[in-house]
Amino acid sequence: MPTETLEFQVEARQLLQLMIHSVYSNKDVFLRELVSNASDALDKLRLASLRDDGLDVDVSDLHIEIEADKDARTLTVRDNGIGMSYDEVTRLIGTIANSGTAKFLQELREAKDAASADGLIGQFGVGFYSGFMVADEVTLVTRRAGEKQGTRWTSRGEGTYTLETVDEAPQGTAVTLHLKPADPENQLHDYTSPWKIREIVKRYSDFITWPVRLVPGKGDDGEQREPETLNSMKALWARPRDEVSDDEYHELYKHLSHDWRDPLETVRLQAEGTFEYQALLFVPSHAPHDLFTQGYQRGLQLYVKRVFIMDDCEELLPPYLRFVKGVVDAQDLSLNVSREILQQDRHIRMMRSRLTKKLLSTVKDLMASDQDKYRTFWREFGTVLKEGLVTDPDNRDAILAVSSFAGTHDAEEPTTLAAYVERMKEGQNEIYYLTGDSRQSIENSPHMEAFRAKGIEVLLLTDPVDEVWVDVVGEFEGKKLRSIAKGEVDLGAGENADGDTEKDKSGEEYAGLLGWMTERLGDDVKEVRLSSRLTVSPACIVSDADDLTPALENMYRAMGQEVPATKRILELNPEHQLVKALNQAYTENGDRGELAETAELLHALAVLAEGGRPKEPARFVQLVTERLARTL
Ligand code: ADP
Ligand code: MG
Repeated sequence: MPTETLEFQVEARQLLQLMIHSVYSNKDVFLRELVSNASDALDKLRLASLRDDGLDVDVSDLHIEIEADKDARTLTVRDNGIGMSYDEVTRLIGTIANSGTAKFLQELREAKDAASADGLIGQFGVGFYSGFMVADEVTLVTRRAGEKQGTRWTSRGEGTYTLETVDEAPQGTAVTLHLKPADPENQLHDYTSPWKIREIVKRYSDFITWPVRLVPGKGDDGEQREPETLNSMKALWARPRDEVSDDEYHELYKHLSHDWRDPLETVRLQAEGTFEYQALLFVPSHAPHDLFTQGYQRGLQLYVKRVFIMDDCEELLPPYLRFVKGVVDAQDLSLNVSREILQQDRHIRMMRSRLTKKLLSTVKDLMASDQDKYRTFWREFGTVLKEGLVTDPDNRDAILAVSSFAGTHDAEEPTTLAAYVERMKEGQNEIYYLTGDSRQSIENSPHMEAFRAKGIEVLLLTDPVDEVWVDVVGEFEGKKLRSIAKGEVDLGAGENADGDTEKDKSGEEYAGLLGWMTERLGDDVKEVRLSSRLTVSPACIVSDADDLTPALENMYRAMGQEVPATKRILELNPEHQLVKALNQAYTENGDRGELAETAELLHALAVLAEGGRPKEPARFVQLVTERLARTL
């Protein structure tokens, strides 16, 4: 096959440009990325050899080699791992198979400084391309285990790459960087220097479970010396806790997560007894951009007795902890364990339960010991964690205990339910909340008026999952969770002793109007009644205590379920000028003139106020316009 010249996919080209122009300040990490890829390739080959008896490969000496040539200014990272086929090279190296990439590039362009750019790059795992930070040409020669022919890939990172088949290629992959010219001013960045290589591998890749060997150059006497193994290969999770530094943990985290930032929290767990295992878990400091997309890669790495078994093992944590990274090393599982077996294994279920509890108690500890960290945690992962309130009844209380919610008590700081309950007023025995799209839209909702006037705290819930968990959870410490947009509100007879009699009185006064409006608006509302929750607005829409909220209705419809349209309730503010005048007109003249239109407008205004849209916007505009014209 002749040499093919191919173009990089647009996103890949943009990323390469970023690498070449080095948005990233710490260039040393390119070596970590290449070693990390080599290590993954060795893991894959070992697994393939376990699973596939027909695969004729030698796995007795799996390793990574680094070889530098000072004169030619090349650096080669070589592994005898799984390798890549011709097609795989195009697919894996020539394109970026990540739908979030466009978004990433956008964010990167908007990043204010180098530090935030660094962080972003890390999130998107541009691993292999990082070689172009230090090299002006990269060559990759690879042969897939079990295949005869190899493939050579070459690129200068400028829009195109070449591909050709090669007959003589060792199994595995060799990546050769043709380094940029040496900077005489800055010897520190000479990547052909053995001590520099040694230092980088030690710093970033010490825990890699395969030997990383430095192939020595020719000595002065021309003698070839023995290769030197640079990494200790010690599994961090198996070493005594106090022997491992934070830096070492963090490097393992970066290897596992492809994140370049430090984790927020490191969690270790050692289970002894009949089913022994060690776990080393990390809570990232940032939510990945695709946490809520379907097919988000989740799960921990599973090892059995120090041997890597699988990535993204979903069975080890519930979905609402899918952002947690880490390693679990079990003593008593078979090396051949499959996902199907894991799903049914009783020990795995126990392990999952224990890991879940441990993570939740870690968050609880953070709340007590490090408020800043807890806040970061909740900002990044609160929305995901709340899914657990719905899906994991066993841990519901533990999740509630570490949850916090925006509320009217404090414009910045969210509150826990426990703190809310502590602040509840005499006589208040429900926890009030209102759901909506944003804090602002909720705060401006007419439903808030009486609560604001009386200084009663309301939780402001804006995540889609909030609609669901409040229903499922129902109460906290015996206090009902109560939507202030549902049912009747009674804000304490104590404070409003004569309010009740007043309401009874206006009840009689308004009976005629209410009956008439209920009938007129019957297509849209099931009842028109007087409100005790309004102080400023003339009217608002509320739901019956056990009706679905509009947001939930929409959610069920989006999921393809049939939901009958629920009629809602229109509440009028008997103290409002407009409502008073309407009542007077009706009492004196009955259904005459434009009264029906005014009733219709009042309903439309209430719909608008809760962020909805009038049934017939054009008609609404026309009616309002006519009335406005008459005021001039
Ligand atoms: P990531 O490691 O995050 O997947 P990289 O850019 O580092 O992203 O690598 C892209 C892909 O190229 C890898 O997922 C892997 O499939 C393939 N690859 C890279 N290096 C090697 C290697 N040494 N051996 C086999 N496959 C490799
Ligand atoms: Mg990689």
